[in-house]
Amino acid sequence: MKAPQNYNFILFLSFDFDGESAEVMRKEDPITISRGRYGSRVGIHKVISVLERYNIRTTFFTPGWIVEHYPEIIKTLVRKGHEIALHGYLHERLDKIERLEDEEHIFKLGENAILRITGTKPLGFRAPYWRWSRNTLSLLLSRGYLYDSSLMDSDDPYVIKHDERKLVVLPVDWRLDDWPYLELYRTLTPKELLSMWLEELEYARSRKGFVSITLHPQCIGRGARIKILEELITVAIKMKAWIPKGIDIARYVLGIAQEDSILIREL
Ligand SMILES: [Zn+2]
Repeated sequence: MKAPQNYNFILFLSFDFDGESAEVMRKEDPITISRGRYGSRVGIHKVISVLERYNIRTTFFTPGWIVEHYPEIIKTLVRKGHEIALHGYLHERLDKIERLEDEEHIFKLGENAILRITGTKPLGFRAPYWRWSRNTLSLLLSRGYLYDSSLMDSDDPYVIKHDERKLVVLPVDWRLDDWPYLELYRTLTPKELLSMWLEELEYARSRKGFVSITLHPQCIGRGARIKILEELITVAIKMKAWIPKGIDIARYVLGIAQEDSILIREL
C-alpha cells in the first residue's frame, strides 16, 4: 500500500482508553480496579501532553462508560483534535454475547454516550479484547461504521464490501500492543519493547506500508514508561511517518482502494 506523498509509511498510533472499565465489568477488587483507574487519572494526561508536544492527533478507542465517567477528559481530547472511537460500553467480551439484540444494546449505549459528550457519533470501532461475536461485523455494517480496528489477517489496511456497504479494516496485532509485554506477561522491559517497535517502523518504511501500534494510557502512561512513547514518536517523525487518526486513514484507504493494491473483499 502506498503511503501518501511526502510520507514514507503510515503509523496508526492509537490508544485504547479503557481506564478501569474492564476491571469494573469483571467486578475486581478495589486495588485491581485502581490499576485501571491510573489510566483515567494519571496516564491519560501524560499521553495527552506528549501528543500535544509533537502535534499529533490520533484515535482513542473508548468504552461508553469511560466517556460518561470522565466527560471533561473526553471533551479535552476532542478540543485538541483527537478522535473518539467506540470500544464497547463497559469493555464487554462480545464473543460471549450470543443474542444480536444484546450486542446491539451495547453498541447503542456506547454510541449514545459518545454522541452526548462529543456531539458526534463514532465512525470507528475496536472490539474490547479484540474479540468479535458472529454478529459484530453485521452490526458494524448496518450501524454505519467507516472502519474497524480489530482484525489481524493483514499487514496493510483493506476494505470489506457487502452489498453497497464498505468497512475499512485497519489491522492490529497482539505483538504491537503494549499490554501483553508490560502488564499481562511482563516479558519485555520498556526499552526492549521500544526496540521491537523501531524494527517494525523500519520494516513499514522499507515496504512503504502501514504499521499499527496499540497503547493503553494505564500501561504506557505509568511512571517512566511514558518516555518510550516520546522516543517512538521522535523516531517516527524523523522517518517521515504519517501519524494520523484512524478516520483519516480509513478515508485515505477508501480514496485509493480502486486504483491501488488495496484489497477489496466481498463478504
Ligand atoms: Zn480495551
